[in-house]
Amino acid sequence: MKKTMVVLGAGPAGLSCALEGARKGLKVTLLEKKQVGDRINCGEGFFDLFSLAEKPVSGILYKVKYIIISALNTYTLDSSSFNLWMIDRQQWQKALAELAVKEKVNLLENHAVKPIDVASLSRQFDWVVDATGVVGLTTKVPQNLRQAYQKDWWVTLQCLLQGDFSSYRDSFKVKLLQDCTGYCWLFPKDTSLARAGVAVFKSGSKRVNLNEPLEIFLKEQQNYKTYTLLEKKGGRIPAAPLWPLLKRENIFLAGDAAGLASPLHGGGLDTAVASGTLLGRCLAAGEPETYPAALREALSHKMNLERKISWCWQKLGLTFMDCLLKIINLSGLTFLLNKMYDYELPLNR
Ligand SMILES: Cc1cc2nc3c(=O)[nH]c(=O)nc-3n(C[C@H](O)[C@H](O)[C@H](O)COP(=O)(O)OP(=O)(O)OC[C@H]3O[C@@H](n4cnc5c(N)ncnc54)[C@H](O)[C@@H]3O)c2cc1C
Repeated sequence: MKKTMVVLGAGPAGLSCALEGARKGLKVTLLEKKQVGDRINCGEGFFDLFSLAEKPVSGILYKVKYIIISALNTYTLDSSSFNLWMIDRQQWQKALAELAVKEKVNLLENHAVKPIDVASLSRQFDWVVDATGVVGLTTKVPQNLRQAYQKDWWVTLQCLLQGDFSSYRDSFKVKLLQDCTGYCWLFPKDTSLARAGVAVFKSGSKRVNLNEPLEIFLKEQQNYKTYTLLEKKGGRIPAAPLWPLLKRENIFLAGDAAGLASPLHGGGLDTAVASGTLLGRCLAAGEPETYPAALREALSHKMNLERKISWCWQKLGLTFMDCLLKIINLSGLTFLLNKMYDYELPLNR
């Protein structure tokens, strides 16, 4: 008889896990509290430098050819050879859901799972996958493990702008902040809509002011006075993997629920897809115990590098980041990443 898997949450991690599990022979149920792709709060830049995920099957708006990034100086980095796309996440996730349904995944939308349901789901199904984002639903029971996400994380504030973004075509704009490890971004969706936001890295629970740097950044933009602000929303991104909690009995974590977003920039789409896909594969192969080690192995290159750069950024500030950007500008990102990977830094983790 087929093994059964229930996936909680139809974001990138849950959809990837459901799709891979069903393709590899599991009987899959996917429970989503909203409609797939509804009310997504994301910059929608799909940055997969380490080729961890498949190119989005749908929803690519354009390939990002340049990143205009400011630290002490401003650099225009050629990103045309990276896996970096601006995407429409709703379109992408709906396409993944369609593929999953074709693979006979039983998708139930508007179906919010409650912490109290977890015990009965774990009895009913062979495997339970928690891909509910941050804070992962299953980490709230039986004891509350919320603090596990608070080691390293990004706090963000983002808005959707209407205006003339025709001069930004094919490029992202990023400004590193002066006083803390953080940055502002402007990612155009098309010539008349853009997402602009701010993300600040923090350990523990100290408060940060996001409104001020975002306002300053917006005022610095060309045509600022003609922009209309359509929505403004905050959000948190966990950037400390919850390694010991990835597998608890027959319950598994993937994506943001597993704390897998980048410690360097907070992007988590690539790791959500990679972890979901890998988890679906391990479970379908009947090898659940292999998932934590396989995931560590798959992400180790990216995580090691990003932690090192992030650590230097926190300790040495903008001067370090400016030097790094200067070198990337001169020698290319691949060269620099390979060099940095060779050096060990005193990371007590
Ligand atoms: C402001 C902001 C900007 C960002 N910009 C970028 C970016 O440009 N690029 C990038 O790579 N990353 C970005 N990120 C991070 C990225 O959004 C996440 O890393 C990514 O969405 C993680 O995918 P996921 O599938 O793990 O979780 P999610 O995308 O959060 O999906 C979780 C799903 O579970 C569902 N769910 C939640 N609770 C329940 C429940 N109880 N029952 C059933 N379903 C439930 C939710 O409705 C949702 O569909 C950004 C994050 C923020 C906050």
